[in-house]
Amino acid sequence: VGELKYRSASAPSTGKPAVTADSVINLDHGDPTMFEAFWRETGDAAEIVIPGWQTMSYFSDVSNVCWFLEPGFDQQVRRLHRTVGNAAVDGYHVLVGTGSTQLFMAALYALSPPNAGEPMSVVSTAPYYSSYPAVTDFLRSGLFRWGGDANSFEGESYIELVCSPNNPDGAIREAALSSDAGKAVHDLAYYWPQYTPITRRADHDIMLFTVSKSTGHAGTRIGWALVKDREVARRMTKFVELNTIGVSKDSQLRAAKVLKAVSDGYDDNEEDDEYSSSGARRHRLFDFGRRKMVERWSMLRAAAAASGIFSLPEETTGHCNFGDETAANNPAFAWLRCDREDVEDCAGFLRGHKILTRCGSQFGADRRYVRVSMLDRDDAFDFFVRRLASLK
Ligand code: PMP
Repeated sequence: VGELKYRSASAPSTGKPAVTADSVINLDHGDPTMFEAFWRETGDAAEIVIPGWQTMSYFSDVSNVCWFLEPGFDQQVRRLHRTVGNAAVDGYHVLVGTGSTQLFMAALYALSPPNAGEPMSVVSTAPYYSSYPAVTDFLRSGLFRWGGDANSFEGESYIELVCSPNNPDGAIREAALSSDAGKAVHDLAYYWPQYTPITRRADHDIMLFTVSKSTGHAGTRIGWALVKDREVARRMTKFVELNTIGVSKDSQLRAAKVLKAVSDGYDDNEEDDEYSSSGARRHRLFDFGRRKMVERWSMLRAAAAASGIFSLPEETTGHCNFGDETAANNPAFAWLRCDREDVEDCAGFLRGHKILTRCGSQFGADRRYVRVSMLDRDDAFDFFVRRLASLK
């Protein structure tokens, strides 16, 4: 069916090539292709058609602070957070970005005073997401500058990036610094039930989310921010305006439909069983995601134990308010340490066995650590754990 639809245009790309038993397995990026299997089963629930004349204007809602935000996307973002209970939305502005990466940059711009003598320091507790230093410094801004590990920061004003659950190690985090002159940006990309128990409704000043990790639609390039303060929301919107004059409406409409399909799967108005009143199977993304992650983490822990030379963070659990059950933390990345004395560069060692991972040094940590994506397709993940178990 998919191929027929694209008959008159070109077929879409499929991402990374399929793997075989002796391929190089690339688990360096957090490419969320694990979710393809779920969306293949959802029929037309997440499909959209856009006629040639639609989504042509730059503008979406000129009365909104974020004037390029599609009202339908705004509505589905709020609905999904209410369904999951992971973040407060009442009294917040919703802003859309080309991925949450753009909104991260927008937040740095919005929180840095325009006329300070010195660039604002941007810090995060190590191990921190490798893009934070890279994205902060690549244009050598006069407004802000990467300041390293939050725990060794000495100064008054700063922007602290708090990623929870944390990329790369899955840790549940709070801000490390507290000062009236400091600001925090909470990156909650992984605060969804497939990765971690939803223990509270987060209500920080600036919270970032993305479809890349919540539904797996990284290629749609849509992220959103929940922002309390109107002036901060206005400045963040200004950044997106100067950077890309808004955000693809086509992508926003698609993301809205995808989020709607997720919420519909859990809507209380539908019967609470696997089949809806029409007899169609209900598609529940977080059930699929959690089942997959539990299975993968147990396979990975068994492989690390069989090998005897790797260690992983301890499993933690908590009460999940979303499922009303005890659930484990199942991070989207494995923060793997090679314990063999003669291996000082774990990424290099794994590369020798055709497994590509990201070196700990990129996260401000030791080279004995690597970050491994847990979100690839089944075949790649299976070959990875099999190879890992055989390493001595
Ligand atoms: N924050 C974190 C913690 C991430 O891991 C990622 C993706 N790797 C992002 C933000 C960026 O996501 P997006 O695709 O929305 O730009």
